Amino acid sequence: MFIDFYKEFVTVGHELFLAGLNNFHSGNISSRKEDNIVITSTGSKLGFLKEENIICLPIFSDESGRASCELPVHRAIYKATNAKAIVHAHAPYSVALSYFLQNVKPIDGEGMFYFPDGVEVLTVKNSVASEEVAEKIPDMLVGKKAVIVKGHGIFAIGEDVVEAAKWVSSIENSSKIVYLVNNYKGIGK
Ligand SMILES: [Zn+2]
Repeated sequence: MFIDFYKEFVTVGHELFLAGLNNFHSGNISSRKEDNIVITSTGSKLGFLKEENIICLPIFSDESGRASCELPVHRAIYKATNAKAIVHAHAPYSVALSYFLQNVKPIDGEGMFYFPDGVEVLTVKNSVASEEVAEKIPDMLVGKKAVIVKGHGIFAIGEDVVEAAKWVSSIENSSKIVYLVNNYKGIGK
């Protein structure tokens, strides 16, 4: 058992769910452990992870076992970047904006500080368990914290899953502010 990862995964998975960043069965998280990837299993309830929901597989392999269907995307990111952890979440405001924007540019202070160039949106034909996402997302993440896959969700990277979750949370907060300001910009006139 990967007890060090287990506690972190349980906490972060639960917080992502409570914050409304994932629904009951959406999202997945992983960490790099030397040449291996520790990742949540397919069909797991991210907010209520159990020991059997956390599995370990080699990064350089095609073996998938019971891993999340997004394993190929996680593998591609670890192969091409220095990411130590990945958090994927179906954050609703970020997904909503991805239908209209190619780059989500925060307008709030925190968002502009963390994402001065905005967060790029990746448009693909099939966005779930997608070979196209696995092919295209690593280049977009070099030197960046996150990418939003259009109509699907955020993939964020970090030094650990807590940091990657922090980026997901911050992007979603900024997306919500962009959405609200666009809806209420007539107020005060
Ligand atoms: Zn997803």
